[in-house]
Amino acid sequence: MKQLPAATVRLLSSSQIITSVVSVVKELIENSLDAGATSIDVKLENYGFDKIEVRDNGEGIKAVDAPVMAMKYYTSKISSHEDLENLTTYGFRGEALGSICCVAEVLITTRTAADNFSTQYVLDGSGHILSQKPSHLGQGTTVTALRLFKNLPVRKQFYSTTKKCKDEIKKVLDLLISYGVLKPDLRIVFVHNKAVIWQKTRVSDHKMALMSVLGTAIMGNMESFQYHSEESQIYLSGFLPKHDADHSFTSLSTPERSFIFINSRPVHHKDILKLIRHYYNLKCLKESTRLYPIFFLKIDVPTADVDINLTPDKSQVLLQNKPQNSRYEEKAAKDLERYNGQMKRAIEQESQISFKDGRKKIKPSSWNLAQKHKLKTSLSNQPKLDELFQSQIEKKSQNIKIVQIPFSMKNLKINFQKQKKFDLEEKDELCLIHNLRFPDAWLITSKTEVMLLNPYRVEEALLFKRLLENHKIPAEPLEKPIILTESLLNGSHYLEILHKMTADDQRYSESAYLSDPRLTANGFKIKLIPGVSITENYLEIEGMANCLPFYGVMDLKEILDAILNKNAKEVFECRPRKVISYLEGEAVRLSRQLPMHLSKEDIQDIIYRMKHQFGNEIKGCVHGRPFFHHLTHLPETT
Ligand code: ADP
Ligand code: MG
Repeated sequence: MKQLPAATVRLLSSSQIITSVVSVVKELIENSLDAGATSIDVKLENYGFDKIEVRDNGEGIKAVDAPVMAMKYYTSKISSHEDLENLTTYGFRGEALGSICCVAEVLITTRTAADNFSTQYVLDGSGHILSQKPSHLGQGTTVTALRLFKNLPVRKQFYSTTKKCKDEIKKVLDLLISYGVLKPDLRIVFVHNKAVIWQKTRVSDHKMALMSVLGTAIMGNMESFQYHSEESQIYLSGFLPKHDADHSFTSLSTPERSFIFINSRPVHHKDILKLIRHYYNLKCLKESTRLYPIFFLKIDVPTADVDINLTPDKSQVLLQNKPQNSRYEEKAAKDLERYNGQMKRAIEQESQISFKDGRKKIKPSSWNLAQKHKLKTSLSNQPKLDELFQSQIEKKSQNIKIVQIPFSMKNLKINFQKQKKFDLEEKDELCLIHNLRFPDAWLITSKTEVMLLNPYRVEEALLFKRLLENHKIPAEPLEKPIILTESLLNGSHYLEILHKMTADDQRYSESAYLSDPRLTANGFKIKLIPGVSITENYLEIEGMANCLPFYGVMDLKEILDAILNKNAKEVFECRPRKVISYLEGEAVRLSRQLPMHLSKEDIQDIIYRMKHQFGNEIKGCVHGRPFFHHLTHLPETT
């Protein structure tokens, strides 16, 4: 038996904590938050494998602490385990920076309020300072990790496909979004390869933070709640879909906007999620039982109650303690498990192949087959592997079951003819051929024309239409109601329309709100206050949309103008210009949340809705970019 070299031990233990790009980002963000940052910039290059940089405006690291900042088990956050009882920081183990140094080249630039200039430290694989020099950054800390996993080729290979890399970016985005909604006063900018992927400004509260992430169309369908149990000292608060919410706004096919936080840590808590989902699906009795509600749930319990979960033994925390277990830690644990499994199997397989050459003895599992492709490059013995694969096919063919299927060529021909006739009848029929390498281009033919279809533009236009027709912009109470007078509205004809609306509705015997959707959907809550006689009734704006800048009486006049001059009966006919451009923005934002990979069925559904909703009228997205791009005409065949 031999003792492992120190470098190997470090590498092994670090690869338990730092399993992916998102785990690096998570550790660095939490350090920034622990340092009191109100602004965080995350920059990735080549999906984070060339560079991960997290810059904050926190308190910085004192020069005296620099020599140990990236040494394992050095932390400024606790000094003994008793401090865990009152833990208010994300970090406490002093492991993260050291672990990142083991799997990447790390630079740390930092400046405290007391420093005159910032200092950039270059660290080595064990977290020691290699060199340092003055630099020009302001207060705060910037950690740069270069060439991640350069010394772990198998880990790198795990991310060898673009899909996996893109998924990783999505995970980083989801992570940042969850901290973004949790911390309203935090500014976040997320950049990948110099392009801004997402950003969030500082806002006043959770509602506004959610608004900036989810948009008002969704938030209009959500309501806040609060609960406090004296006895168990539990605080619950957050936002859930309203009782009468439009479920198409508040449901997603994944739990990525089902935010759960326990003591300010984003967690992935299956039981809580299941419970909320269960009640939600009882409400929307649609086909949508597989959907996840959008919600934000903040659970706060006394830290002392959860201290058992905070064992410094990371593997225990990863596997056992669900509630405290951060969802990203859990993901990281899963990645690690999968990765270890792959490694084990790859090693097993390789030894079996090279030592035994036992074609018959090897029992490749279905996993082997699935992974054959991936392992190809990592195994040296390619011909042997091919043989192994071949033996699998042979083995399979021995087990073939023979089943007789009745078949008639004549019937097939008849059906085929029928189908053909049907195709000809449907004159304008669009025929979907295939998607291209880009998710936003599908090859389509219509008669002899070959075109590209951009399904996202169609979806955007469909969403916009739906928002124009149905979206109800929430009205927020005004500090001081605005009394609607003739002089304010510049003429009595506007007031007449409003009074007519009340006359149309019999319920206005006493003080009540105008329920006409042309007003309410445009964010106006107008109250009728009855006078002694009908002519003395007066109206005041009590609530108004606050998501639109400078929204006010002028916009109300625009609505009334449309009613007066264009006989606008429906909501979409009298949307004020500000509302229209706002809804355009919402449609663009919502359609960006569509999945990157649309199936053929999704596209067919989009085409169906496009024809149904637009006919031949609208042929472009809200920016006027066309749905279809003409490629060529096929020569007519007879
Ligand atoms: P932990 O967060 O568990 O203490 P880390 O390895 O993540 O361990 O960080 C080690 C120490 O480096 C921290 O305790 C803190 O003092 C310092 N540090 C790390 N990142 C920052 C930062 N962004 N701003 C200020 N100090 C930091
Ligand atoms: Mg930390």
